[in-house]
Amino acid sequence: MKKHIVLLPGDGIGPEVARAAKRVLEAIAEQHQHTFTFETHNIGGSAIDQDGTPLPEDTIEACHKADAVFLGAVGGPKWDDLPGHMRPEKGLLGIRKQLGLFANLRPVKAFQQLLHASPLKTEVVTGSDLLIVRELTGGLYFGEPSERRNNGAEVVDTLAYSRHEIERIVEQAFQSARLRRNHLTSVDKANVLESSRMWREIVEEKKQEYPEVTVEHMLVDAAAMKLVTNPSYFDVIVTENMFGDILSDEASVLTGSLGMLPSASIRKDGLGLYEPVHGSAPDIAGQNKANPLASILSVAMMLKHSFKMEEEAEQVEKAVQDVLAARYHTADLNINGGIPVSGSELANKVIEQL
Ligand code: ATP
Ligand code: MG
Repeated sequence: MKKHIVLLPGDGIGPEVARAAKRVLEAIAEQHQHTFTFETHNIGGSAIDQDGTPLPEDTIEACHKADAVFLGAVGGPKWDDLPGHMRPEKGLLGIRKQLGLFANLRPVKAFQQLLHASPLKTEVVTGSDLLIVRELTGGLYFGEPSERRNNGAEVVDTLAYSRHEIERIVEQAFQSARLRRNHLTSVDKANVLESSRMWREIVEEKKQEYPEVTVEHMLVDAAAMKLVTNPSYFDVIVTENMFGDILSDEASVLTGSLGMLPSASIRKDGLGLYEPVHGSAPDIAGQNKANPLASILSVAMMLKHSFKMEEEAEQVEKAVQDVLAARYHTADLNINGGIPVSGSELANKVIEQL
């Protein structure tokens, strides 16, 4: 198969982990006789420096034409003092919105070799393997803010969803659940929010189409607690934008390191933007210390979701597991009695396993 991939390395450790992602894609292409072509563009702080904007036009154009986009990370102390509209993060929010990527998928898995790295008790995290499906382009973060703050006496943010917006994210979640363990938890705050009540109704309607999936509704406060007391209870969680933002950060403690968490932001036709959950990690940038596994697992998500290459995706995931089982690790993982290696060496190990 022929696929065209846009790489947006971005800032900090972004370029290091994007390099690892590209090398894994090249190795997969060679083995399976696919043709993957690549095109690199600026985003975030490096785009501010070179093009005077965090999201240059040619970057947007290239992403529209791509089969998939890989993003490293954006941001860093160098750009911290810029005004709001000129911040590196605007590049990321902008490209998600421009491409209409309404579903954010964040798998969280407690790898056997890394159980000790979680701040939670080993017996609590053991066996955790869940997927958070977060609505990404609606809700509170995109509602009309009140124009003025009434001289500071009052302020309003709006939580708005259309039926269409809820239906498409709920559908995505049912489809994800079907490919996993057929257990869907819809998280809301239906005891106080009208938007949550409509969300529940739509989940109830949609479930008729997926009889094999067990569905339940859970209030967000209860879900927050259960995530750290009994995380292996969950398979797929679906929720609106802000709840998803908070719960996915909370769930990240299950894996022990930010350097292990992949993500995908997708839309219906298969185009997706894949990125590690971690940021630009300026404290370790340019030192070849960054753990490339979150990016490599993001590549596995790209293969699966955008290219429908299930076998290749599983091969990449398996290679990551094998490398951990062989106890190779970057400094963030600190596997007891393991073999410490640099970021690029860890990527090499994964490619050897492939
Ligand atoms: P940003 O504003 O871009 O999020 P940050 O300063 O918050 O940057 P993060 O990238 O969020 O930094 O990282 C938080 C911590 O986790 C840092 O100490 C960083 O070094 C570490 N970290 C993040 N990603 C990785 C990785 N891939 N490998 C190793 N350590 C990482
Ligand atoms: Mg951060």
